[in-house]
Amino acid sequence: MDATGLMLYEGKAKKIFAAARPDQVIQYFKDDATAFNAEKRGTIVGKGVVNNMVSERLFMLLDEKGIPTHFLERLSDREMLTKKVTIVPVEVVVRNVVAGSLAKRLGLQAGEAIEPAIVEFYYKNDALGDPLVNDDHLRLMKVATPGVLRELREQAHKINAVLKPFFVERKMQLVDFKLEFGVFHNKLILADEISPDTCRLWDMATGESMDKDRFRKDMGKIEEAYQEVLKRVCG
Ligand code: UDP
Repeated sequence: MDATGLMLYEGKAKKIFAAARPDQVIQYFKDDATAFNAEKRGTIVGKGVVNNMVSERLFMLLDEKGIPTHFLERLSDREMLTKKVTIVPVEVVVRNVVAGSLAKRLGLQAGEAIEPAIVEFYYKNDALGDPLVNDDHLRLMKVATPGVLRELREQAHKINAVLKPFFVERKMQLVDFKLEFGVFHNKLILADEISPDTCRLWDMATGESMDKDRFRKDMGKIEEAYQEVLKRVCG
C-alpha cells in the first residue's frame, strides 16, 4: 500500500491520500516549508523523511503511555498510515519556555522557564491568520464545547509530561510545541504530526535552535539541524 491513490487534501507540509480502508488515510510528508502564514516559502531537503520518522517515534511513545493517537504504521520514508479523523480546528500550543509569539505579544524575555507549562488555543483558520482565542471564543463559534476544551487541555499537559523528559534524555529542551486533535468514532485522539516543524527544540549544550526557527529566521544549517534531531530521536 502506498500513496498512489486518490489525493484527498494537500496542505503546506503534507498531502493526505485515501487508503485501502475508508476509515484510514495516508499522510505523505513533503519537504516544502512555510512560515508566517505561508508568506515565506522554501524547501528543507529531507525534512519530510525526518518529520515522518520523528512523528512515528513520538506517536509510538505516546501510545505506550496510554495517550491515543491517529498513528497506525509507517509505510515508507515519507508515508504513514493513520486513522481518518475529523480535525478539530484548534491548534493547541504547549509552552515550557518563553519564545516566539508569546515573547513578542507579552513583551516577555525569551528563554524564561514557564512552570507549570501553559496551554494556548489558536483557531485554525488561514484567512484569519490562526488567531489566539480563549474558551469562550471557541464556544461562541461552536468550534468546541467546554468538555472538549477541558479534554484538549488535559491531553496537552499529559503529552508534555511524556515528551519533555524524552527530549531531555536526548539533550534537547522542548521549548514549545503545537498539537492538533481529531475525532475518531466519537473519541478525541491526537492527530497531525509532532516534528521539528511543530516544536521548538533547543540544544541543551549550546542553546542553539534545532527546529523550524532556523528557516523562519534564516539561521542557516537547517537541513543539518533536522538530521541531528532525527539522529537523537530515532538513532
Ligand atoms: N506552531 C506550529 N504551527 C503554527 C504555529 C505555531 O507548529 O501554525 C508551533 C511553533 O513551531 C512553536 C509553537 O507552535 O513550536 C509556538 O509557536 P508561536 O505561537 O510562538 O508562533 P511563531 O512565533 O512560531 O509563529
